[in-house]
Amino acid sequence: MDTIELDPRLRYAAGYLGRAPKMLIDGKMVGAASGKTFEVYNPATGAVIANVPEGDKADVNLAVAAARRAFDDGVWAKVSPSEKGRMLWRLADLIERDLEELAELESIDNGKPYAVARVADLPLAVDMFRYMGGWATKISGRTIPWSLPGQFLSYTVKEPVGVVGQIIPWNFPLLMAAWKIAPALAAGCTVVLKAAEQTPMTALRLGELIVEAGFPAGVVNILTGFGETAGAALAAHPDVDKVAFTGSTEVGKLIVQAAAGNLKKVSLELGGKSPAIILPDADLDAAIAGAASAIFFNHGQCCCAGSRLFAHKSVYDRVVAGVADIAGKIKVGAGLDPATEMGPLVSSEQFDRVTGYIKSGRESGAKIAVGGERVGNLGYFVAPTVFENTRPDMKIITEEIFGPVVCATPFDDDDLDRIAKQANDTIYGLAASVWTRNGGTAHKLAQRIRSGTVWINCHNVFDASLPFGGYKQSGWGREMGEEVLHNYTETKAITAAL
Ligand code: NAP
Ligand code: MG
Repeated sequence: MDTIELDPRLRYAAGYLGRAPKMLIDGKMVGAASGKTFEVYNPATGAVIANVPEGDKADVNLAVAAARRAFDDGVWAKVSPSEKGRMLWRLADLIERDLEELAELESIDNGKPYAVARVADLPLAVDMFRYMGGWATKISGRTIPWSLPGQFLSYTVKEPVGVVGQIIPWNFPLLMAAWKIAPALAAGCTVVLKAAEQTPMTALRLGELIVEAGFPAGVVNILTGFGETAGAALAAHPDVDKVAFTGSTEVGKLIVQAAAGNLKKVSLELGGKSPAIILPDADLDAAIAGAASAIFFNHGQCCCAGSRLFAHKSVYDRVVAGVADIAGKIKVGAGLDPATEMGPLVSSEQFDRVTGYIKSGRESGAKIAVGGERVGNLGYFVAPTVFENTRPDMKIITEEIFGPVVCATPFDDDDLDRIAKQANDTIYGLAASVWTRNGGTAHKLAQRIRSGTVWINCHNVFDASLPFGGYKQSGWGREMGEEVLHNYTETKAITAAL
């Protein structure tokens, strides 16, 4: 096992990394039952930053038993909705108190710039807990009018679905934990969450804050371990009532199969190949900056990244030159370097995957306008890359790359149906952006696009109140907003003969 090597620039997180991070099971911070740990790497250098518990089936069993008990014995049900809300707000306050530490952990674990974690990931996570804390007192049913003969009173109540297994990815580690845990708790469920093996640090630290916030034992359990062992055991567990997953479409399909045993409820937030569509009347400066940020934010490791860029023929050359110019100037470096605008990819696997796609694009005849290379020879850095001359059948157009690689395509058409058809030509349907000064055109095109989110003159804009999720193979159900509560509640109809 390699020794731990911490970046000397760490100001807030070294203490936590130095004290053997633990999982949260049944209210206690614990190691894996097997005693095993695995190494966590700094993607900027490949150095080991921590050894964390390697939870597996045995730990999943313990965590599910704790969550089951907390649900069945009414431990969480007995906490009033307003007290549930207060606990979620307290947790938000604790995250805010430790914002710098958590942002540093996110940066050194995932690779993203510290400033980005500090102004995007962390505040959005805090907001999610606060927003869902508000919902805890507002989840209610309806009274239903009767038409058939007889006198009846019918009403519905919303009840928690039960024990929820949650499996999250590495691109926004703490934020994805917040998107999952906050609504489940507001709805009255108990939770077992498995973090991604590449980025376990902030989820484990969150476990400590959950204890500090005073949540009863077993209500939230947080595990680290591998997908094939811990993740698969959670998805298949007969005492888990529902599984909520964010990650690849490929693993999403495995989750559906694993859930079939006890017909768990399933929600999935999967991949994307989102279009950014620039019409000839767009504010081009804003559209170019927006299209660049749509793909390069978080190093393209966003499920809703604008990875297919469509620009009208009359502005195409200017758009590609503009995006390539921005790409060429992005400062690539370690997340803890204050000058860095883009960090490394999350892991060596992700580096191989993204550079593999770049190679495939080159070999299939696409032209590189900028980038296409590794940056430096240490860590997992890939230069922001723009492809041109693509064909619809190329892998770089049909498959999710999940890296800083955009494929630009011109369109020579003013017919919105045909523009939408090209944008919709994908197995995915997560998001899209439309860039135009004409409000009517924007909304007409938004209606023709088959995706869960359409942004107009912006991209990657989120709010805890906005539902987010996919059409087609981008998923089932929605995260955030009131809609996410459907993932975690059952509806009961109660009818009384009067
Ligand atoms: P992934 O394998 O789908 O990982 C997502 C989560 O699922 C992780 O916690 C993973 O655990 C877990 N997992 C893996 N295999 C599992 C199984 N058989 N049963 C239960 N859980 C399992 O994604 P990845 O390998 O990290 O990334 C691969 C690609 O997925 C990316 O290149 C990207 O295209 C896509 N992706 C999409 C999103 C998104 O937000 N939609 C996020 C991340 C990745 P371990 O990490 O511990 O193996
Ligand atoms: Mg994986």
